[in-house]
Amino acid sequence: MSRWSSGSQSGLREANTAKIVDAVKRFGGLTQVELAEATTLSTATVSAIVKELSLSGLVETHPTSRSGRRAQLVTIARRAGLVAAVHIGSRSMRVRLNDVGQSVLADRSMPLPADHAEDTVLDRITLLIIEMLDMIAAQADELIGLCIAIPAPIDPDTGLVAYPGVMRRWESQPIAAVVEQRLGCPVLVEKDANLAALAEATLGTARDVADSLFINASYTTSAGMIIDSRLYRGRGGTAGEIGHVQVDPAGSICPCGQRGCLETVVGAEAVTAPLRAAYGQVTFKDVIARAAAGDPGCARVVSDAGATLGRVVAGVCQTLDPEIITIGGELADAGPVFLLPFGAALREHAPQRRAPRREPIPASFGKDTVLVGATIHILQSTDPSQLLEGRS
Ligand SMILES: [Zn+2]
Repeated sequence: MSRWSSGSQSGLREANTAKIVDAVKRFGGLTQVELAEATTLSTATVSAIVKELSLSGLVETHPTSRSGRRAQLVTIARRAGLVAAVHIGSRSMRVRLNDVGQSVLADRSMPLPADHAEDTVLDRITLLIIEMLDMIAAQADELIGLCIAIPAPIDPDTGLVAYPGVMRRWESQPIAAVVEQRLGCPVLVEKDANLAALAEATLGTARDVADSLFINASYTTSAGMIIDSRLYRGRGGTAGEIGHVQVDPAGSICPCGQRGCLETVVGAEAVTAPLRAAYGQVTFKDVIARAAAGDPGCARVVSDAGATLGRVVAGVCQTLDPEIITIGGELADAGPVFLLPFGAALREHAPQRRAPRREPIPASFGKDTVLVGATIHILQSTDPSQLLEGRS
């Protein structure tokens, strides 16, 4: 990421260069006049830096017209085709266009309503990808693949959500087939935690070990498992669904139909509900932010969630004996208030001689980890001869 900052430029020049590169990534493609507006730099400075970045191969320019006037659209250079990575969460979605080297060309997020439905979200994804391709002056046939991460497991035989009730309005049709028909490129759909585990095992902390675990502690809870250097999905795709391990036989009913699942104790609703009497309406993100800032009530529920999740993950460790455990998601973002009780429960309930390896490690690519995994998944599933040659 710091290719343009390693030269002999002055600090100011480096900062201006970084501003321009960030703006191009954020918007996908901008003319030099638009870049000057977005960065508050002069057009002369923008022009000089764009020229330098073009020569170094980091950006490229394409003829375009804006308000009837000819202009040059500046985009990040694309090599060997484009990859679209989509992360659908419980309350938001993110779409990123990369080149095959994980260089980000455009990155957009939008909120989603609670209990969103498949047809409307897939419509939005299709339109957004077409718009983003247009912004970077790319054609649809440059897309070598699209990977959609969802917070639920997929049945590898049917392509349908494999666990009943967990994505209630996404269960009627195979997601990949619907999007493939609209965009005309290969589409993969995978559970978010599986893709994060793949990112860790390929480019992240777990890249040198054969057995690792990624824990997604978000609105929902699940694990991605790498066993003997391969992603393990189980017979019907539901391996790692630790959110539906029973932790309270007298607990609440889970959307999956069972009673007292882990998710009914550490999921977003379970974390926010006990605070309403004292705090009024608080969102899951509010609770995480306040817990990280030291609010005692919010810290209490977040650290209790860490301890409960740690006990369940300890059970997985006793079964699989992974060498590295990485963890991501909103709860993990709370930091030590969540990670310390999580680690303590792991050590208490899954003791082993090489105990330091059992310390949970925060996700290598932060909030991007699932998207990095989605890009890797496409590249690993693509025939190398399909990659376009000679783009720069
Ligand atoms: Zn459940």
